[in-house]
Amino acid sequence: MKTCNIAIDGPAGAGKSSIAREIASRLGFVYVDTGALYRAIALFSADYPTQADFLQALEDAACHLELKYFGGTQCIFLNGDNVTDKLRTPDISMKASQISALPEVRAFLLDQQKSIAKEHNVIMDGRDIGTVVLPDADLKIFLTASPEERASRRYLELEDKPDAPSYEEILEDIKRRDYNDSHRTVAPLKQAKDAILIDSTTMGFHEVCEAILELIEEKLDLE
Ligand code: C5P
Repeated sequence: MKTCNIAIDGPAGAGKSSIAREIASRLGFVYVDTGALYRAIALFSADYPTQADFLQALEDAACHLELKYFGGTQCIFLNGDNVTDKLRTPDISMKASQISALPEVRAFLLDQQKSIAKEHNVIMDGRDIGTVVLPDADLKIFLTASPEERASRRYLELEDKPDAPSYEEILEDIKRRDYNDSHRTVAPLKQAKDAILIDSTTMGFHEVCEAILELIEEKLDLE
């Protein structure tokens, strides 16, 4: 049976994950956070002294990633260990942005992402889902917001945590990742021709969810 696939792409901090998770739970779809797969590879790469060693290890199939779901929450297992809680550090964010430019890394993850979407109804979020991973997705959304708004949301999320970065540091990190993600040669971040643009700079979480749910109702026959 053909599965239903929804792609949500956009830059770092646009709210893709929380929105995709909410919509997946309302529709009973599987939510796939592809950024976490790149982050897990970034964590894996930290064990190798050089990029050549790391790429050799990928080729030798020394990296086994598995997605498991606990009450709708995606957990990532790297070679049998649940590494989910280790993936959201600034260091891993930057490393993920760097290794994601390597064609070998993108090729390594492409089949995994495609096969999850073939087996399940999914909402998949990332940078190249509508353009490369699921070019035939039933609905494609490109979700963005100004860098300042994205930095300020992230700042509010983190401000109570020990060692929270400053607003300026977060903004700089977001701008650097936007640049890396949209200037790489392979699968750069860009809006697919048939994606619908949602700029959430002045929209709240529920407003964006409702807008996407309306599009789903309009465009997809889910009954
Ligand atoms: O979405 P998240 O910020 O967790 O992604 C981490 C990094 O992984 C991004 O900065 C991006 O470089 C990379 N990524 C990607 N393609 C995807 C998802 C994430 O290149 N589909």
